[in-house]
Amino acid sequence: MVADPFAAHEVWFLTGSQGLYGEDTLLQVAEQSQRVAKALDEAAEVPVRVVWKPVLTDAGAIRRTMGEANEDPSCVGVVTWMHTFSPAKMWISGLDALRKPLLHLHTQADAALPWATIDMDFMNLNQAAHGDREYGFVLTRLRMPRTTVAGHVGNPRVRARVGSWARAAAAATAVRSLKLARFGDNMRDVAVTEGDKVEAEIRFGVSVNTWGVNDLVAVVEAVEEKAVDVLVEEYGDLYAFADDCRPGGDRHDAVRYQARVEAALRTFLDDGGFGAFTTNFEDLGGLRQLPGLAVQRLMADGYGFGGEGDWKTAVLLRTLKVAAAGLPGGTSFMEDYTYDLTGTPRILGAHMLEVCPTIAGGRPRVEVHPLSIGGREDPARLVFTAAPGEGVVVGWCDLGDRFRWVANEIDVVDPGEALPNLPVAHAVWRPRPDFETATEGWLTAGGPHHTVLSTALGADELTDLAEVFGTELVLIDDATTRRSLAKELRWSAAYHRLAGGL
Ligand code: MN
Repeated sequence: MVADPFAAHEVWFLTGSQGLYGEDTLLQVAEQSQRVAKALDEAAEVPVRVVWKPVLTDAGAIRRTMGEANEDPSCVGVVTWMHTFSPAKMWISGLDALRKPLLHLHTQADAALPWATIDMDFMNLNQAAHGDREYGFVLTRLRMPRTTVAGHVGNPRVRARVGSWARAAAAATAVRSLKLARFGDNMRDVAVTEGDKVEAEIRFGVSVNTWGVNDLVAVVEAVEEKAVDVLVEEYGDLYAFADDCRPGGDRHDAVRYQARVEAALRTFLDDGGFGAFTTNFEDLGGLRQLPGLAVQRLMADGYGFGGEGDWKTAVLLRTLKVAAAGLPGGTSFMEDYTYDLTGTPRILGAHMLEVCPTIAGGRPRVEVHPLSIGGREDPARLVFTAAPGEGVVVGWCDLGDRFRWVANEIDVVDPGEALPNLPVAHAVWRPRPDFETATEGWLTAGGPHHTVLSTALGADELTDLAEVFGTELVLIDDATTRRSLAKELRWSAAYHRLAGGL
């Protein structure tokens, strides 16, 4: 369902100038800014359309344009560039009204200065160097959350950063209208998966509500055998099968039951307009198996998911699935499970069943095994090892007075060993900068055991997302030291208390 979340979306490219330099200059500004917008629109790094808007030279036009951006459902964000000198008081009322993510692009039409011919006409035309400083001052004075990117659009790094912001803006738009269905409540007594759903709706827009699991059971029972047949055939095309799971095998019925749950979940979620959901193995009502294979398949299609009632991780997964759409790599629900502390320590992550096959290194294999908790029939699941690659893990905790995302840059690695007795999909990674700094930092920050693991996204996208949502992000990366992180957490606590107001 996130096949292309960008298709109907665009960002607007707004250029600031003023009337002082005459009509000829403004025509040149229009031509040059169209060229910059076109370069971004055509850039492979920028996943949405970039739509140029007429050059803005007065407060009324700016205010109208920002109002239109707010109201247009296809517009996910606004890029602004002060081509010439645009006295920034004219931007105040428009910026004050803007409710969409903002990118301040600090650029110039041409990369090279014509040293031999440069005159005052050229200087007056190409003065973003101070026009953007005037504008940046007003943004700062207004306390405007925004992403700032400097450099020529011919530079791939500049295009990539604009693309990262556009992904964050599109993901934010998706989460603003996201509905999440919880089947049952939280796993009993677990702390970190709890959280303030009202605050989540205020800050992120997501609507989180609970349904009795037997509401889903009724849909499961109504699924026709034909629909099960179609899904089982699809499994045969996509996955390897353990011998006892094939048609005619002892365990095949268990696979058919998960297909039935998958069909029912799709119906339930699509009928209700839900983009994310949670389950809880303690509350399965009339379900014969904990949803496993079914959940894995839905995550692969872009649905957010969290186990044990963990709605925050489910929202985060959906958010990052949208931001990552079309990028190489995968994005999954994950849980830190166990460690190999020899040599360079590694973390083995997995879950009871629910790991997304988008991170798989090889062909996932359909298997049926007992589940030691939950007291139900043996569930079918996809088993695989995650593909090596650079990535991030991100967790979301509720500190009581605010939300915090804790992220760690990681390197997913090949385990180097077969794990013939591990009956669940898993990932093995090395945290950066090293095991001790990363895990001590994670624990000090209060990061959760459930995370989203992504090999499609990196620090840029997470930073832009945190900025767009106004949410704290504690990022543990190559540059992190114990001391720098301890200081960051203290300063950040003070900042967020102050920024939150009374
Ligand atoms: Mn768990």
